[in-house]
Order: sequence, then structure tokens, then C-alpha cells
Amino acid sequence: AQGVTKVYHMGEVQVHALRGVDLELHHGEFVVLLGPSGSGKSTLLNILGGLDVPSNGSITYAQKTLTDYDDASLTLYRRENVGFVFQFYNLIPSLTARENVALITEIANDAMSPEEALDIVGLADRMNHFPSQLSGGEQQRVAIARAIAKKPNVLLCDEPTGALDVKTGSLVLDVIEHVNKTLGTTTVVITHNAVISEMADRVIYISDGEIAKIEKNHIKKTAKDLVW
Ligand code: ATP
Ligand code: MG
Repeated sequence: AQGVTKVYHMGEVQVHALRGVDLELHHGEFVVLLGPSGSGKSTLLNILGGLDVPSNGSITYAQKTLTDYDDASLTLYRRENVGFVFQFYNLIPSLTARENVALITEIANDAMSPEEALDIVGLADRMNHFPSQLSGGEQQRVAIARAIAKKPNVLLCDEPTGALDVKTGSLVLDVIEHVNKTLGTTTVVITHNAVISEMADRVIYISDGEIAKIEKNHIKKTAKDLVW
């Protein structure tokens, strides 16, 4: 991200959500984005993932500048490279776990099978369950399976454990960590919980639309070693 700004126009009111963000993410790294509510974390994540566009500045991915892209190329970028995981899972209630994942595997090139993706998140025995028949943590793991099934280069998670208790949250983080390690997926996790930042290669602190500081963790903890 180079000089990324985002201004939301709400009638007369302007909200400056991002005020010039410069950030370089490295292939395969695990980054945690930390910052108070309203500081611009989700806005930044959405722009990095091509769900939204900056007001100014640019996003460059593998030497290509996304900000020059039209809607169709932005969609293609997202589809080929990015997996998203959200706080409230966003599964389709009328589809089973397998069908939710299949939505993605059917449109992506070189995707895993839903069975493979659900196996990675430990839900091989829940393929035919509907979201309402799964626990919160299981639903989030289906959402992760859906996000990783297309083997994205980048996994963007917006408060993936926000709706979960500590134990279930650790399980979900364990899965995200596993994906980052075994598939080499560049991973960004937004959280309010400083404990989670101990898992990161780098922790990026956002405050009032700006990067306040970036810290490198010389020793990373695994999800299982976090003390809550
Ligand atoms: P939280 O931790 O509460 O999720 P956040 O750091 O993710 O907060 P953002 O959602 O990025 O914060 O919001 C940054 C600012 O932009 C906030 O002041 C918010 O009100 C505003 N904002 C976010 N999305 C929109 C939108 N679609 N339209 C108008 N304003 C928005
Ligand atoms: Mg947010």
C-alpha cells in the first residue's frame, strides 16, 4: 500500500478512515493488525483485498497496481488471490458445509475439493451439516475452508475469533496458523485482542487512520501456546 487514503462521504459529512497508509506485506508472513474501534482496520483490509478502492494512493500486488484496475480486473484479482474470513462467518444458511465451500471451488482455477478443504480445518465429518447445525467455531472453520479452498496467496481475516469463546477462538487460530505454515499463505488477522498479536511475525498498530507503529516479533507463539 502506498499513500492509501480513504474518505467516506456521508452527505455533508466526510469520514477520513485512512490517512496515508504505507505498508509492505511479505510473501508468507503472518501479520496482525491491531487498533481501536473505528481506527480503519477493516477499511484497510477491504482495500488490500480489492473489496473496496482507496480514495487516493495505490495498492500494488506482484508488481501490478490494483488501483488502476476496473471492476472486472479487481474482481479477478480478488478471485484468484484473496481469501476472506469475517467475524460473523457469512455462510449461506440454506447450503451445507460442503456446498458453501463448493461455491468457491467451482469458480476457481486449481482449487482443492470441498472435502480436502474441510479436512484441513478438521471438519471431514461435518460435510453435510447446515450452518445452523454447527457450533460457532465449526461455522468459522467452514468459512476458513471456503476461503482457503481456492489456494489463495493471501488470507485476510477480520476479527475471525470475535464471536467465539477463548477455547473455540484458539482452535480457529490454530487452523489459520496451520494454513499459513503449510500452504505458505500470506495472512493478515485483524483483532482487538493483543494476546493474538504474539502469533504474528509483525504487528501493525493502527490509530486514527494511520499506522502508529510496526513491531517485529522475534519469537512467535503458536496458537496453542497463547495465554489468555
Ligand atoms: P472496528 O474495530 O470497530 O471494526 P475498524 O478499525 O475496523 O473498527 P473501520 O470499519 O475501518 O474501523 O472504520 C473506520 C472509520 O470509517 C469509522 O469511523 C467508520 O465509521 C467509518 N466507515 C467505515 N465504513 C464506512 C462506510 N461504508 N461508510 C461510511 N463510513 C464508514
Ligand atoms: Mg472492523
